Order: sequence, then structure tokens, then C-alpha cells
Amino acid sequence: MNSAAELVLTTEVELNQKSFLQKTRTKTVATVGPASSSREKLTQLISAGVDVFRLNMAHGGRPDHEAAIGNIRWASEQTQSPVGILVDLAGPKIRLGELGSNPLNLETGKQVTFIRGTETDQPNELVCLYLPLIDELSVGDEIVLADGIARLQAISRTADAVTCKIVDGGLIRSRQGVNLPGTNLSIPALGEVDRENAIWAVRQGVDFVSLSFVRNAREVNDLKNLLTKQNSHAITIAKIEKREALDNLDSIIQAADAIMVARGDLGVEIDIEKTPLAQKRIIRTCLHHRKPVIVATQMLESMHQTKRPTRAEVSDVANAILDGADACMLSGETAIGEYPVEAATMMQKIMIETEQMFQGRSSKITGHDQPTGWGVSDAVVYGSAQIARRIEAKIVVIATTCGEAALMKSKQRDFIPTICVTDSPQVYRRMSLYWGVVPVMVSEDMQADKIVSFVDTWAKTNAGAVSGDPIVIVCDTELLKGVHDTVMVTRVS
Ligand code: PEP
Repeated sequence: MNSAAELVLTTEVELNQKSFLQKTRTKTVATVGPASSSREKLTQLISAGVDVFRLNMAHGGRPDHEAAIGNIRWASEQTQSPVGILVDLAGPKIRLGELGSNPLNLETGKQVTFIRGTETDQPNELVCLYLPLIDELSVGDEIVLADGIARLQAISRTADAVTCKIVDGGLIRSRQGVNLPGTNLSIPALGEVDRENAIWAVRQGVDFVSLSFVRNAREVNDLKNLLTKQNSHAITIAKIEKREALDNLDSIIQAADAIMVARGDLGVEIDIEKTPLAQKRIIRTCLHHRKPVIVATQMLESMHQTKRPTRAEVSDVANAILDGADACMLSGETAIGEYPVEAATMMQKIMIETEQMFQGRSSKITGHDQPTGWGVSDAVVYGSAQIARRIEAKIVVIATTCGEAALMKSKQRDFIPTICVTDSPQVYRRMSLYWGVVPVMVSEDMQADKIVSFVDTWAKTNAGAVSGDPIVIVCDTELLKGVHDTVMVTRVS
């Protein structure tokens, strides 16, 4: 045997093992933008640990996003990584129209008036692209401009104008965001443009579609129905960033497939000092309902311009993981920042260090030792982790056709290396968001004996397993219909 060939093989095996054994349990979502949409940068980002790429429909046109999707698929193929694609629908983001001067300085204590229309040339007037605003504002309502740079309070109104006191002044610009924390707006969560973008996303075959500014479960169901009508199996993600969403949290989480804690707008819609506890509450409720949850925005904000994050940012990422986040998201850091790859690498380093907290922890459904409605699959998946720990199994393998058992294992938050094998390309990519499981695609059918022989080779190549090492496999022998009914223990040949 040619020793050079042997060497290459060993190196490849070592590389595979390194990439499996060093994989973080927490997943990374990275937003794609001009700083990261090239094939080269996307490949580097995947190598730096990115699991899901997010396309933000609030920025850039569909042709840009289509080009990015092509490049993501290319990079995913090259790196043989199951990267998911998330299309983030802009939702009812309300924006200022064209202001009289740009920027416009709003002075604290003075007054400014919202008038009808989308343009003004007066420095004491404001206009908004959401035309019913004038009709829907009431005296006393709070209006937050440009992500909190300026705050107004409506003090009087006529049929065509609302006069506001400038409570906190600042420099604002045309088309910046307008948040109305206490106002009930009639604008639908899923507007015409969002519907078109959702249909476009389905045609692109993306894996996740998120909806911004969700207020109730009905809005989530609207998106789900739209996707179902298009024969899409994409996962729906509800972004929690409105006060009403916090009021309806339980039903929204039950309706959605996954949740995003969208702290950018949430920190404007509610008092910013209330966001840490809101984040913990959202994550806890997601754990309760076994839904994956992404924590988003300003996680490593300073890395837009610097190679190193602040101590506070590092703690923020670590605390999100300890709270129970399945994934942490990078926004501008990877979309327009100067150091996208460094930001993703830093995220990985924080995850690796922080996840040590989970090491050696007994397998436990976080927050729920014995959930009510404890089903057969749940119990079997739970038991598999207990067995794996007792016999020091090299890996746990979950065979899954729809991803449900993978999610059950994920939400247990144990640290046992776990692969989830599937024959469905959709489920393979969807699992890119699930904490602590490595998705593996199999081409053969999912019969127990086939899985055993596949896993035998896989464990040697990727998990450093040697002859005699125990492996725990969870599968469905169809003794009971539609549930994972079996835990098998095998030894590597
Ligand atoms: C957010 O507000 O935190 C968020 C993720 O949404 P966007 O980036 O679209 O503002």
C-alpha cells in the first residue's frame, strides 16, 4: 500500500474527526450582506462554524439574494456541510418618509408635527411611509424614531396632523425606522411584499422563513398556511420584537416552529432595561414547548469595526447560551462588518468555552424533568442518553425521517456527541438549527441493519471510534407506529 495515500487518508480522517469532535452544540446564524456574499467568504464562514445563513429581505433586492443563495449552496457543497438558509421577511416595519432636511435635528422640549403624505420640505414636520399613521395615533402615544435615537409623545391632533413633543432629541434621517410601542396598528404582519417574498423563498427552496413584528398566533398561522399552499416544508420562525408578542407569547410559540429573540426592535418597543428578562422568559417558554430559539442582534456589535469584541459582548453570547438559546445570530457583523470571519470565529470560541457548563451534566429536559404528555419517543430518546452515559458510548445516533426525535434530543441539553441521520435533504438542513446534534445525510433506506453498518464506518471516520467502542442507536422498528420505539447498543467492528 502506498504510504502517501495512507497518509492522505489519515489526514482526511483526522480532519473529519476534528470537525465532528470540535463542533459546538450551539448553532451560529450569520446574516449575509456585501461583506459576506462571495463564495470565498461564505466558505470561510462555514469553516468558521456558521450553520445557517440569513438573508434579510429588508435590505437588498431579490436578484442579490438569489445570487447569495447560489453561492451559499456552492459553499455548502464544497465544504460538505448541511448549511440552512433563512429568509427573514421584513414585516410591517414602519419608516419615515423624505424629511425637510437630512439629517434633521430634533431638539428636546420642542414640538414637531406628523402630517399626511410621504414628503415634506418643512423642518418642523415629519412624514411617514405608513399612510394610516395619522389616523391610528392617539394623544399620549409614544413614538420612537431611528431605533431609539429620538422619542416623541403625541400631545394633540387634528384630522390631518398629530403634534408631538420631543421628549428625547437627536439627529434623524429620511427612511429611518418608526416604532410605536403602545399603539395598536392595523397594518398586517404579512403584507403584500412579504407574501411575494415568501413565495419567492419557497421557490428558492429555503429551509427557514421568519416573520418580523409578529403580534399574535394568527399571523404566524397566516405564514404557515401560505407556505403550506405552496407545498413548502420550510420552518416558520416568529420574531419576538413587539410588546403584543410578549403578551401572546405562549400561543405564538405554540404556533411557530421556531422563535427569534429579535432584540434590536424589542429593545425599542419595550424599555431597553426590560430586554434581558424578556429574553430569559422567551427562551424558557421555548424550552417548555420544545421549540428552537435564536438570540439575535448586537451580539458582537463592536466587531463591525474591531477585531476583538468587548467583554460585555462576550458575556452576552455566553449568557444567551446558558439561558438555553439553540443558536446565536450575527447581523451587521457578518453582513456589512469589516471582520465577518473573525466575528464567526469569536462566536465559536465563546461557545466552546461556555458549553463546558453542560459537560458531565446529567441528561435532563431543561426545566422539565418529567413533562406532562411524556410520549414514547421522548422517553426512548431520554433513555438513550442515560444508557450512553452509563456505558461511555462514543456517540448517540438518532435515525429520523421528520426531525422530531432530533429536536427531542436537542432539547435535553446533554453533552453526549450526537448525530442525527436522515434520508431527507430538508430535514438534514433543518437540523442545522438544532442545538447539540450533527446532521448526517444517508442515501440508503433507514432500516435498522443498514443504519448499524453505516454508523460503524461513520464513527470510525468522524468520531475517532475504534473497535469495541459502544454506540447507542435510537430508531423506529415500526413495532409501534410512528414513534421511536427502540434503543440499540452496538460495538464498533
Ligand atoms: C431585530 O430587530 O433584532 C432583528 C433581528 O430584526 P432586523 O435585523 O430585521 O431589524
